[in-house]
Amino acid sequence: MPGFFDSVARRIGKLDAESLRRQYEHLAEDRRFFEALLRSMHEGVMVVGGRGELKWANSAAERIAGFSYERARGRPAAQILPGGFAPAAQEHLEEGWTRAAVREVEISYPERKIVSVETAPLESRGETLLLLRDVTAEREREADALESGRNDAVRELASGVAHEIGNPLNALTIHLQLLARELRKNAGDERCVRWLKDVETARSEIGRVDSIIRGFLAAIRPVKPLLSPGSLAVPLQRALAALKAHLENSGVRVALDLPESVPNAMIDPGMIEQVFFNLAKNAAEAMKSGSVLEITLRYDDMNVEAVFRDHGSGMAPEELARIFEPYRTTKRDGNGLGLMVSRRIVRAHGGELEAESKQGDGTRFTVRIPRLERRVRRLSTSEDS
Ligand code: ADP
Ligand code: MG
Repeated sequence: MPGFFDSVARRIGKLDAESLRRQYEHLAEDRRFFEALLRSMHEGVMVVGGRGELKWANSAAERIAGFSYERARGRPAAQILPGGFAPAAQEHLEEGWTRAAVREVEISYPERKIVSVETAPLESRGETLLLLRDVTAEREREADALESGRNDAVRELASGVAHEIGNPLNALTIHLQLLARELRKNAGDERCVRWLKDVETARSEIGRVDSIIRGFLAAIRPVKPLLSPGSLAVPLQRALAALKAHLENSGVRVALDLPESVPNAMIDPGMIEQVFFNLAKNAAEAMKSGSVLEITLRYDDMNVEAVFRDHGSGMAPEELARIFEPYRTTKRDGNGLGLMVSRRIVRAHGGELEAESKQGDGTRFTVRIPRLERRVRRLSTSEDS
């Protein structure tokens, strides 16, 4: 094809009006054909100009990312793309749109979706091609078996067994307590002191079994938040108060950045507190004494976000990919359920929990919850003020 066009271009001065018209119609017809082809694709196609402005989009892109091409044309792509999508696009902008990359982003507007975004530079034109694919269904199919509804029966059985184990454990604890009390009465007897130590060890081991079972029950219990309007600042302060001693012991300082007022979201404060507690605890566990954990509350038109940025060990990409799986832990006494439960809680609030990490640099967790009153996004400049 380029050969053909080149030869037409070379001969163009010699062509008469009629042949020019034929060539022109030929090209126009081709253009219509390729546009129709692009429009009929399931993949979203967007072309972004050198200044980050949207130049072209097919209808699949409009559908997947939830915007109208007519109205969005010429606007910064990073503004058009909603929710969690915008920062992703912005990042590519910052990188100069030069690097071809594939990533998956979760968008929460107009509905929750997982979108795979492939960017490729169109170098000769100084533009960037974005290919969008809705991979929500694929990812949901892959979602962990514990989270799938098909396992309701198994879940019930398992929770029954866990409860049954709880009862004898309680009885054991009580008996060990009685035994310890008796042994303490004979503190002068060397054997009693030894036995007391054994009893304490047994009690602490039972404590561990109990915490494993508790975690397990929490993990398989369906999450049903009791929602009411509230600020994320309240559960955040509570979680930090509950962790105060732990943070002090590990020598971690928290730098809190709260805006003057935080818009309300529909939340179950107890559940959100648990999420913040888990994230702050993980961060503290990943950091050396003397480090600072930065926690920021912020909001935009659509969402309120709590960002936990630590300067801890960070994670390799392979590790990061699996942190939400149940029982995945790198800690001696971890249960590997904290993040899984946290993500389920956030999702039950219509939000998303995202993790980004760089090994040796640190980790950032973002809790994003939709605002109670979302400010309607207006795309036409004349209405913006
Ligand atoms: P647990 O804390 O019991 O191990 P979690 O589900 O809370 O379980 O976390 C799972 C794993 O994810 C942790 O064991 C750790 O390897 C990794 N992880 C979580 N948060 C961080 C963090 N802030 N920095 C580095 N690694 C983390
Ligand atoms: Mg944890």
